[in-house]
Amino acid sequence: MTESSFGHPPTTTDAGIPVADQEHSLTVGPDGPILLQDSYLIEQMANFNRERIPERQPHAKGGGAFGSFTVTNDVSRYTKAAVFQPGAQTGLVIRFSTVAGERGSPDTWRDPRGFAIKFYTSEGNLDIVGNNTPIFFVKDPMKFQNFIRSQKRLAASNLRSADMQWDFWTLSPESAHMVTWLMGDRGIPMSWRHMNGYSSHTYMWVNARGERFWVKYHFKTDQGIEFLTQDDADRIAGEDGDYHQRDLFNAIERGEFPSWTLKMQIMPFEEAKDYRFNPFDLTKVWPHGDYPLVEVGKLTLDRNVTDYHTEMEQAAFQPNNIVPGTGLSPDKMLLARGFAYADAHRARLGVNYQQIPVNRPKVEVRAYSKDGTMRIDNVTDPVYYPNSVEGAPAADSQTYAEQAVWAADGDIVRAAYTPHAEDDDYGQANTMINYILDDAARQRLVQNVAGHAAAVTRDDMLHRVFEYWRNIDKAIGEQIETACLQLRKSGDENKLLDSPIQT
Ligand code: NDP
Repeated sequence: MTESSFGHPPTTTDAGIPVADQEHSLTVGPDGPILLQDSYLIEQMANFNRERIPERQPHAKGGGAFGSFTVTNDVSRYTKAAVFQPGAQTGLVIRFSTVAGERGSPDTWRDPRGFAIKFYTSEGNLDIVGNNTPIFFVKDPMKFQNFIRSQKRLAASNLRSADMQWDFWTLSPESAHMVTWLMGDRGIPMSWRHMNGYSSHTYMWVNARGERFWVKYHFKTDQGIEFLTQDDADRIAGEDGDYHQRDLFNAIERGEFPSWTLKMQIMPFEEAKDYRFNPFDLTKVWPHGDYPLVEVGKLTLDRNVTDYHTEMEQAAFQPNNIVPGTGLSPDKMLLARGFAYADAHRARLGVNYQQIPVNRPKVEVRAYSKDGTMRIDNVTDPVYYPNSVEGAPAADSQTYAEQAVWAADGDIVRAAYTPHAEDDDYGQANTMINYILDDAARQRLVQNVAGHAAAVTRDDMLHRVFEYWRNIDKAIGEQIETACLQLRKSGDENKLLDSPIQT
């Protein structure tokens, strides 16, 4: 291996092969045509053409950092989530963003700011995908897409439009609280460090006794709230479009680690029914007088990303990432986001986006998901459930039940059908054997099953097969057992499998 005059190690292709020349394309003579066989040139051009991935729609412009969350207060009477237990410390990644602007748009446009956190907890990833606003413009997901379009660009001119924005807002009176907030001082924060973050939505917490609470997360900035006037923001937009990105990056580089104190509003489960307005309505706050803030812990950012594309552009937050001891609420916007965010990531990043290091949980993943574009992990057998393989993953209904039970009236369940008098599993198969099939067809059934099952390698499983058929029909089960054992004894188990069905 040789080194260049600057002491650099040799450049390689993406395949790790040393490159001969990085300044001249391969040509036929100094002035001749470029050769298709210059695969390094082609690799460089091809990669360049594919560098940009689709930007987020919305929240395209943003940045963030890594840090940790430390619990400082005992809230175990409200939640059993490991991440919120006394003394727990959990790593996290955060991403701040504007909503309407594109990837190159100025940081200082008047807009809500995204405040998305992924906690890498010991029970899997918990994502709180909030904003710097405790509320939102609409309360039903049916209107969300239209709302965002009204904030983006006209079809013909490709310009943003006050007409569109005010048309939508004034025809959607539920936006009044949020528009008041947006047009006020906090509509343009001084920096990402100088703003609060809110879950905005109501979530659920569940304690170790199974008691449920409705909660709202408030991440209060320890730097103090600071804002920009419209004049300052307009000027800065011309001078430094990346004002907020630069501020956060430089602060962390200087060792000035920004922090937020997490405080919760907590509503006893039963109070939601009769509260004076719907507590799941995303356009309303819960007055502090009714539900005072309860301190939980401190979130600190202390590490910049080293590669924006892999650690920020590909960071994927999704409100349906909730861990045991936490849950969703009947907030319709939250429930819709639970689908929409994961779907957006599948569209932008591909189905295996959770294997990208920034999204990857720190705990072992034991999912039955398999294959797909860009999967990098080996899939281990068995690849199906239910199975009787020792050590294979199985759901733990005790640990996870509360995630399914969120409805105020308790009628949303994960359950089998309501029982009826005749819904046993074997009855209709028995009817088919005894009333539909004739003797010859019954015999072929016995031979087909016996031939197929004779290839089973595990004795315990083979006995389960015989039991299964005896449950359907005792006589047929016994015939299958006899035929199958005979085939295995004669070592001829593949014969019937491969032979065509005789009619
Ligand atoms: P409180 O007096 O207890 O709280 C008022 C809250 O208003 C403050 O805690 C602060 O929220 C927020 N606030 C202060 N200045 C601004 C501003 N310039 N722009 C936006 N928000 C600001 O009263 P209530 O809890 O009864 O709430 C009264 C009103 O305050 C609400 O209707 C709502 O409009 C607004 N509000 C309330 C919040 C809440 O969670 N209760 C949160 C945000 C706004 P914070 O402490 O979170 O910074």
